[in-house]
Amino acid sequence: MKVLVTGSAGFIGYHVAARLIERGDSVVGFDVVNDYYDVNLKRARLSRLEELGTRQGGHYRFVEADIADPSALNGAFEDHRFDRVVHLAAQAGVRYSIENPQAYVVSNLIGFSNLLEACRRHGCEHLVYASTSSVYGGQTDMPFSEGRGADHPLQFYAATKRANELMAHSYSHLYSLPTTGLRFFTVYGPWGRPDMALFKFTRNILAGEPIEVFNHGNHTRDFTYVDDIVEGVVRTLDKPASPDTNFDPAAPDSAISSAPFRIFNIGNSNPVKLMDYIRAIETALGREAKLTMLPLQPGDAPDTFSDTSRLAQWIGYAPSTSVTVGVSRFVDWYRDHYRV
Ligand code: NAD
Repeated sequence: MKVLVTGSAGFIGYHVAARLIERGDSVVGFDVVNDYYDVNLKRARLSRLEELGTRQGGHYRFVEADIADPSALNGAFEDHRFDRVVHLAAQAGVRYSIENPQAYVVSNLIGFSNLLEACRRHGCEHLVYASTSSVYGGQTDMPFSEGRGADHPLQFYAATKRANELMAHSYSHLYSLPTTGLRFFTVYGPWGRPDMALFKFTRNILAGEPIEVFNHGNHTRDFTYVDDIVEGVVRTLDKPASPDTNFDPAAPDSAISSAPFRIFNIGNSNPVKLMDYIRAIETALGREAKLTMLPLQPGDAPDTFSDTSRLAQWIGYAPSTSVTVGVSRFVDWYRDHYRV
């Protein structure tokens, strides 16, 4: 299978591309390698993918370009003729979107629109793209299930991701493009993002510096280990593109479209209190954190909790990594990568 993975220099895109290369797919990575966070970390991920591609017989290519540039995207589709697409390139981050909404318009709205159009124009058996638990906003009805409460985003990042789901629906309906949106719940693991809590906390605890604990450590997050996410993404990608007539016709994303249009939660279904997450990091590091307690940040959801029963039914999704195990794998990677 020939697969386009956008965002392959990013955290999740790197892991997904690596898994597809390892199993023998022909993979084309696509990323603008922006400086939202440390570019060296992105370059290191890309080097690892190059090495892996070479070891696996060379079925890996990388295009460094912007999805907001339609000619670059169309050029990649013309050159490589993808069967399927995993779309993980985006401007991520909740808090950054409050100060820089324009970056989200460019990558998440214009870029996503270009990608849908390239899929329509050049043909694509299945587009799998990243959405987010942030679409549930401040919903308190737990766990979050796909059919309820995704229309009141608390910030612009969530608004652009919800817009992606609606844009995908229109392309599924009008052009029979099979699309599946996966709402990721706080993904963590080795090669993780420097703007996310696990990375920042690990770095500061090792440096003896205080960590900022929002909402006084009281909120819960459905932290999901990256390998569990990758398993779900790859199984989703492999599903046949034909309409799945046995699949839950009462679901909110059911086949009103002429092609399959689906949205699933992909999380751990086991929310953990922020303070317990911090304790797991302290244990893995063998050091105590200095805490700076702060209120809940504007735009942050108080709690997240995924109901993943629909994805379990569809692809047998069953996350298996506990926070204790996942955090210690991250810490091992961090110490090794940064030699600390
Ligand atoms: P990331 O920032 O590590 O990766 C995104 C990559 O996309 C980056 O390498 C960036 O350079 C690239 N990119 C951004 N704009 C681009 C553009 N215009 N053209 C080409 N490339 C561009 O983020 P991630 O954590 O790997 O997230 C991957 C996807 O999952 C994103 O869509 C994100 O919104 C979503 N998501 C992530 C999480 C999480 O916890 N990590 C949670 C929910 C949703």
